[in-house]
Amino acid sequence: MSNKLEGKTAVITGGTSGIGLATAKRFVAEGAYVFITGRRQKELDEAVKKVGRNVTGIQGDIANLADLDRLYEQVKKEKGNIDILVANAGGGSFAPLGAITEEHFDKTFDGNVKGTLFTVQKALPLMKDGGSIVLTASSAASNGTEAFSVYGASKAAIRSFARGWTTDLKARKIRVNAISPGVVPTEGYNTSLGMSAAQVDQFAQQMSAGIPLGRVGTPDEIAKAIVFLASDDSSYISGIELAVDGGMNQV
Ligand code: NAD
Repeated sequence: MSNKLEGKTAVITGGTSGIGLATAKRFVAEGAYVFITGRRQKELDEAVKKVGRNVTGIQGDIANLADLDRLYEQVKKEKGNIDILVANAGGGSFAPLGAITEEHFDKTFDGNVKGTLFTVQKALPLMKDGGSIVLTASSAASNGTEAFSVYGASKAAIRSFARGWTTDLKARKIRVNAISPGVVPTEGYNTSLGMSAAQVDQFAQQMSAGIPLGRVGTPDEIAKAIVFLASDDSSYISGIELAVDGGMNQV
């Protein structure tokens, strides 16, 4: 590793599995100290062990504003401020238009949109001027994935937040960018989407046919791109959506 994040303090929401956990591992390998969050204490404790060093786990739901206050109080107490915020926590489930319920909408938008908004807003007093904020959007915001419209719409909001907040934070030189993973099998496919291991394999195979690189991605491939957006390597990049999708939505 090349110590791209040496001495930096980072907060990564949803750091207990998948892309968030892979990002926490990469950040620590690059020299950062990371605070990771997750809703379940047991999974959080396991993730802290997997990251191994330079990590604190703080339990909380990003859709719960009191949990966010508690998160940032602890970060303030332990480190004083934040260089990098990765607002990664999120998820979705399938429902075709005719079957969308109020509960499905509220759960998706509370977790993805409201949660991300207040994750960032409440971090602002601790964010260093010149810091970097990375928001996890999704390729699903830019294609019409079947039975996934509420999730796609929630992630379109995330992409839009990156534009608006880049402007809102310009006086502080804080860069805000969105990252849009393509198809990246993670624990979320089993938990959030409710797929069995066999269904994930079949889905990955089916999707690979439409991906120019001929395969699905790995959480670490997304983590590497997040390191880029978090580090000085992207010092003149703000407000963008970086697609990390093997070319799926680009051709
Ligand atoms: P994952 O389920 O493996 O990880 C998501 C993490 O976020 C978990 O730690 C989960 O507990 C946490 N989380 C979810 N809702 C939360 C909440 N309200 N409060 C606190 N923590 C919460 O899934 P993943 O695939 O690693 O997803 C990470 C992000 O990437 C999500 O925002 C997801 O929508 C996005 N994404 C994933 C893919 C993909 O193919 N994996 C593609 C595009 C976008």
